[in-house]
Amino acid sequence: MPDSSPIIQIERLNYRYPNGTVALCDVSFTIQPGEVVGLVGPNGAGKTTLQLHLNGLLPETHPDRLPAGTSAAITVAGLPMLKSNLREIRRQVGFLFQDPDDQLFCPTVREDVAFGPLNLGLPRAEVERRITECLTAVGLEEVAQRGTMHLSFGERKRVCLAGVLACQPSLLVLDEPTSNLDLRARRRFISILKECPAAQLIASHDLELILDLCSRVIVLNHGRIQADGPPAKILSQVTFLEQHGLEVPLSLKYGQR
Ligand code: ADP
Repeated sequence: MPDSSPIIQIERLNYRYPNGTVALCDVSFTIQPGEVVGLVGPNGAGKTTLQLHLNGLLPETHPDRLPAGTSAAITVAGLPMLKSNLREIRRQVGFLFQDPDDQLFCPTVREDVAFGPLNLGLPRAEVERRITECLTAVGLEEVAQRGTMHLSFGERKRVCLAGVLACQPSLLVLDEPTSNLDLRARRRFISILKECPAAQLIASHDLELILDLCSRVIVLNHGRIQADGPPAKILSQVTFLEQHGLEVPLSLKYGQR
């Protein structure tokens, strides 16, 4: 793939849950390699539904062949979102869930971080190298042998991030990465994400985080993109934000940036 091709390309994506709820309408955007994009909007806007589409968790079934003359609504690293491409797509996209307990399932920190790279079929030496590198990156090398359930919430979240980073995804999809973190843990998490070379799509209600990390923000509401552009510009529009259940972040309101 040439460097200039988008890591994600979405064209006119629509999604309706089996009970009839329309969750996404006509959603189109691209994300370039290394680009860090915020995804904001009120509860029920469609953020989770959109993120779940990016590694093929939704819809649950994908065709193996597209009808002649059509293109898949989602392309990841040049690969159309087809059942036959899901394995490769899931190598490219790393997903960080909001609740670390939905993601951790091995007894120890080390085993949990090893799981992804082992599953990729990497040689043992490379797996060991990545475990050490990623646990060091998130500041948890000291607790590698500990049980994941004997760590704080913030530490468990960092173990999950280490596990995702160990697979070296091209795109990190993060759902509320700073929710339930105290101030120090939040700051630490943001610093780790700043160091990460992968493209990122970050769904968050923490608009200060979006301002700090993202070069672009997408505002989603009622399943539709309402704005897509520079965070400082979009997140300073009082009336527009109110219409979409959001508030101007304090640092923009009081000019502290
Ligand atoms: P957000 O992540 O922005 O809070 P969601 O993607 O969770 O929004 O939800 C978008 C819409 O889809 C909402 O109307 C929500 O009620 C609906 N929805 C979410 N999950 C399901 C589901 N499993 N079945 C039916 N409707 C759902």
